[in-house]
Formats: sequence, C-alpha cells, structure tokens
Amino acid sequence: MKKSTLITLLMMACMPAGAVRHLVYSPSRQLCVAVSDSAGEAYYSVLLNGSEVVLPSRLGVVTNEADLTTGLKLTAEPTVEPVRQHYTLTRTKRSSVDVNATRATFTFANDNKRGIKMQVTFVVENNDVAYRYTLTRGKGDNPKTLIVEREASSFRFPEGTTTFLSPQAAAMSGWERTKPSYEEEYTPDAPMQARSLNGVGYTFPCLFHVAGNRWALVSETGVDGGYCGSRLSDYDARQGYTVAYPMQAECNGWGSNTAAIALPGSTPWRTITVGESLKPIVETTIPFDVVEPQYTANYDYKPGRYTWSWLIWQDNSVNASDQRQFIDLAAKMGYEYVLVDGLWDKQIGTAGIEQLAQYAKTKGVSLLLWYNSNGAENDAPQGPRGVMNNSAARKQAMAWMQKIGVKGIKVDFFGGDKQHTMQLYEDILTDANMFGLQVIFHGCTLPRGWERMYPNYVASEAALASENVYFTEHHAQREGFEMSMHPFCRNTVGSFDWGGVIMNRYMSRDNHSSHRRYTSDVFELATAITNQTSVNCVEVTPNVVDSLSLDYIKFLRELPTTWDDVRFLAGYPGKYVVLARRQGNRWYVGAINGTDKPIQVRTALPEAAGNSFTLLTDVAKKSNSLWPEHKAVAQKLNKKGEIKLTLQPMGGALMY
Ligand code: CA
Repeated sequence: MKKSTLITLLMMACMPAGAVRHLVYSPSRQLCVAVSDSAGEAYYSVLLNGSEVVLPSRLGVVTNEADLTTGLKLTAEPTVEPVRQHYTLTRTKRSSVDVNATRATFTFANDNKRGIKMQVTFVVENNDVAYRYTLTRGKGDNPKTLIVEREASSFRFPEGTTTFLSPQAAAMSGWERTKPSYEEEYTPDAPMQARSLNGVGYTFPCLFHVAGNRWALVSETGVDGGYCGSRLSDYDARQGYTVAYPMQAECNGWGSNTAAIALPGSTPWRTITVGESLKPIVETTIPFDVVEPQYTANYDYKPGRYTWSWLIWQDNSVNASDQRQFIDLAAKMGYEYVLVDGLWDKQIGTAGIEQLAQYAKTKGVSLLLWYNSNGAENDAPQGPRGVMNNSAARKQAMAWMQKIGVKGIKVDFFGGDKQHTMQLYEDILTDANMFGLQVIFHGCTLPRGWERMYPNYVASEAALASENVYFTEHHAQREGFEMSMHPFCRNTVGSFDWGGVIMNRYMSRDNHSSHRRYTSDVFELATAITNQTSVNCVEVTPNVVDSLSLDYIKFLRELPTTWDDVRFLAGYPGKYVVLARRQGNRWYVGAINGTDKPIQVRTALPEAAGNSFTLLTDVAKKSNSLWPEHKAVAQKLNKKGEIKLTLQPMGGALMY
C-alpha cells in the first residue's frame, strides 16, 4: 500500500462522524496539509513524509461582525490548483526562484447573522506551507469593512519539541520607551512549557526542533499598511501557540491593536517551513513566494557596502570632520556609502550635510542619512525628529536629499506592530521610491516579504544587533551565539542589518580601552557571508584600518553583498553555521563557531568541485594571546567538492 493512501485511511478512522477532512499535497507529495471541520471547529495539520510535524491546530478569526471560530462547516469541495511561478529578486538569498506549489482554498461558513464566510487558502510547497484567511461580504453585499479582533490560528507541536525563541518586549518598555523593537535575546533548546521572558509571547520568526528530529520555522509574510504585524503567544498545553496581535499600549497607546480591512479582504500569510534537516529552514524563499511587488522601482538602487562612525565612535563622531574621515575611508576601501547617524541635524546641520554630500561625491561615495521615525510613539530623542512621520515634511526632506545626492535613509525607533505603524513603514518606502532613496529600518519590526513587495527596501535591524556588542561585555561575549542563531531564524526570513563586520578589537575609539571583542577576526569577516543584506556595513575605523592584515583588506575591498543562490552546508542554531553563497559563477563559503570549543566540519559543495579558493582560517590560539593568528592559503576543491574545516572557538573560516 502506498504511504499516502495509508495516511488517508488512518485519518479517516479517527474522524468524528459528520466531519470532513481533505488532504492537500505538495508537488513532490512529501508534504501534506490536512484540513478538517470537527465539532464546528476548523483544523489543519502538517505531515512531512507521512509523519505529523504540526498536530491538528485551530483555524479561525473573530471579527466585530462575525465570530468565525465556532459552528463552522466546510461548505464545498476545496478548489485545488498547481502553482508554477518564476520571479527574480536581486536583494535576498536567491535571485531566481521557481515556485512549485499546490494551492487549495477551503470555504467555511457558520450561522453568523451577517452571512460572512471564511475562506482559507493554503499554498503547499515541498518544505513550506503558507496560509491566509479571506473574508467575504455577507447578505445584501454587506458589510464592506470589518475589524479582525483576533485569530484562533494555532501551532501545536508534538510533546518533546524544543524551542529557539526571542521574547516579545512589553509595550513602552526599554530605553526611552522604544520597545517592542525585536531586540531581545534568543533562548536555545528550551522546553515549550517555559514562559516567555515578559509573558507576552515571542517575535517572529519562531524556530522549533520538533520531536523526532524535524525542524519547523513559523513566521508571517505579506504584511503591509493594510494589516497589523503579529507574533506568537505564550505556549498553552491545549492550544499550543496562537497568533497574537499587537498590545494596546504599543505606540504610546495610540492606534488600534486590531486590523481593519475592506471586504472581501485577506489577512497576511502565516508560514511554516519544515524539514528533516535545517537545510529547508536556511534556504526557504516562502516569505517572498506568496507576496507581490506593490510598485516598481523608479530608480536603479545600488547595493553596496558602507562605513559607519557611530558604532565605535558614537554620538560625538556625528560631526563634519569625523564624517569626512569616514568618507575618505569608504573611498579608500572602494565602498559605495557612508552612513551619517542620528544628531546630524544639530551637530552638522543642513548646510553642513550639503557640503559633506558634495565632498563625498568628489570621492565617488554617497551618503545615507539617519532619521527618527517619531512622532508621538516613544521618547527616542535623537533628531531629525518629526520628519519621517509627517507626510509633507517627509516628502520635503526626501526631495532635498535627492537634490544633494543622498542615496538612502536609515529610519529608527519604531514602537510596535500596529496597523498604523505598518502603514508608516509602507508610506516611508513608497515616498522614498519617488526620490531615489533606498531604506534601512532600525529599532523596528521584522520585515515580512518586503524585499519583494517594496523594491527600494534594503534591510531591517529587528535583532539584538552590533550596538549591543559595543554597549556591554555580556553582549560582546554572546556575539558568537547570536551570529550563529540568525542564519536559522531572523535572517532566513528577511534581510538583516546587523550593523557591521566589526574589525575593532576593543569597543572604543582608541581601540585599547573598554571591553574587548570576543570573536576572531576571521569570524567577523565570515559574517559578511553568513549574514545577508544587500547594503552591508563594514565597521572599520580610520585609525584602525592601516593596522589590519592585507589578507583582510583584500577580502573587505571585494566583499559582495548580493547573491544568486545559497547552500546550507552544516551547523546548529546558536552553535555554528557553514553557509555557501553564490554570486554569478563564484561561490563564497562563510563559517563561524559561536562556541568555546573547536568544531571540525566535513561537508561538500559539489557545485564548486574543482574551483580554486583562498581559504582564510584561524590558527589555534596561543595560551597568552586573546586572539588567534590567521592564515590564508590557496585551495582547490576536489571532484566531489569536499570541504574540511577546523573552526576555532569563537572563530571561523572563509573561502572566497
Ligand atoms: Ca537598535
């Protein structure tokens, strides 16, 4: 008997009388989604090679016009169709994507007075499931709008599953009441029953090591100004995790924590990537497969590298003289951009920025300018403030930037996931496209399919990023862990502005005082491969650059930031990762070890068999030194493309 037939029979055997269950298979049939109504409730489950990864979990929404969580019945056979789509995208992990999926739409109805029906559309790829709700108009072609107050959408995993999660921060908490801004520590391999740090659940994406040695990554995509962002609730033994909407206190209590939509209208996509290894998790393109571009690019946005004074030289460096040094440095390295951080409005001034932009132009470098997103959402004091949140002021500033040759903005300190905040992100991106500006967000939410939706979107912070390595020794010690976590989680669903390959060894302008960096130089260089963003920061400072090994300088000068393809070669979340990325016909391998023990890696990249590389590695550290030496050797891969690496503690390897 075929395995798939067996599943069907087993499922039918345990179904209550009167219930209906449908199975939707991925094109290869390795992934299957079962959808059912049972005792008036809607359920789905996900099976990988015949074994449940997501146990029967609830579907449904509660709106102000109708409760679509109870009394539900599947009203008709689902519409099922194959999806074959090709798209190109230059700013994520893979430039050319063939979507091969099965799409099935189910219609549920109950006896709600308005007569509103709930359709659930599943897109089932071989390792990914995306689903979303579409709500219809009801009797008399009304209502034409409604408010989605909450979702029943849940995710239940088998007993023994462990979690790799980052807690959501409480609203209006943290520095200058700027949270939640997705800047919390991950806890690896925790039991599902552990409470989240702040009792308000977890930020997307959420990684699960599912009992039976499978992996699942839960996230959402396709969130634009027409909906709020969401997260996962704390774990409940009966329900598992559920989709949670923003907290009312976010954004200074301003705005709704629900979503208002026009009918017929859809929610964003809930996504689940599953695998028997971590490869499908790291290589997934599901955040981009199910969304559509919202507009076309008005300009040719250039990827590239930028220097940034603020990380190590801090607020005082936002002055014309220091910025000139970083422009000179960018020119010397062959970099495209210099990021001028917050407070430039006071410390440099508009006229000063115009002179800097002119100076940069003579050096072949362009400026990126920092802006506060506020507003009334939190207390973040840095200026320019009150510009990006105001439509007229924003357009005026953008026209000015375009005139003087500024090529991008970094907008910081958003305070939550409410619908009006998502609208602000969209408005900033849309306006920026009118003025040739690309956009990086900091102190912000997770991007949700934005690289494809908004062609001038570059990357977001949405993580405990490099500034924390500077701020505290604790986070400097945790850098290896964090950087070994993100390729499996935060960075796999969206571009990631970590904010710098950090070449300073001490977190101070003089590069002697304050606490040290705990990672090796090669580790830092390899993060340029393990992290993905199309405009990447290299944190090298004018007073340190000349002391760097020429091996480093050579790599840093030619550092690519856009990729055609990715291969996961080895790793474990929070411990180590070995990734290969391809640009054109050239492969780059980045490997980092976030643990305090050496790791031997035996892997292969058959696509690069016979190719020649420079291999940059750490040499085992002498007991009296804080950092290992490095060595650079020429290497040719054999016919099988076999790769053998020794990764030193907090060290790495780089093949380019
Ligand atoms: Ca930040």
